[in-house]
Amino acid sequence: MLDYYLYKNVLDLFKQGRLEDAKSVLMELQAKHIALADENSILKAQLQEYEDILYISKNLIFDGSCYWLMTGSIKQGPFCEKCYSGAGILIRLIDGKRGMRCPMCGEVHRSAEETVAAPRRAVSGSGKILPFAR
Ligand SMILES: [Zn+2]
Repeated sequence: MLDYYLYKNVLDLFKQGRLEDAKSVLMELQAKHIALADENSILKAQLQEYEDILYISKNLIFDGSCYWLMTGSIKQGPFCEKCYSGAGILIRLIDGKRGMRCPMCGEVHRSAEETVAAPRRAVSGSGKILPFAR
């Protein structure tokens, strides 16, 4: 917490001609200001993360097989149900020979009624990952 009385102390010290003491108090105020600015940046980042989580939770739709994210009038996805349920991350499915395949877990999603599990293997470098907590 910034100590506002220090501003008055600095002014009093300057008025008294005690410049070195005033500089010392100013340096203390500067350090406190920097610490507050850093804390503010961290809190802003946390707030943005929570807003993102809230947005996703309000706009995520499950169609029985895959998740879809509504952004305005645009429906984004599909995203892997297994990765979302297990790890809380949205992995965009990619077109495969047998249906829509998750590049992360290998799950193949054919339709809402017919979902086939493929062998588990990690594939990196493809698919979009949207991390968020649940
Ligand atoms: Zn997956």
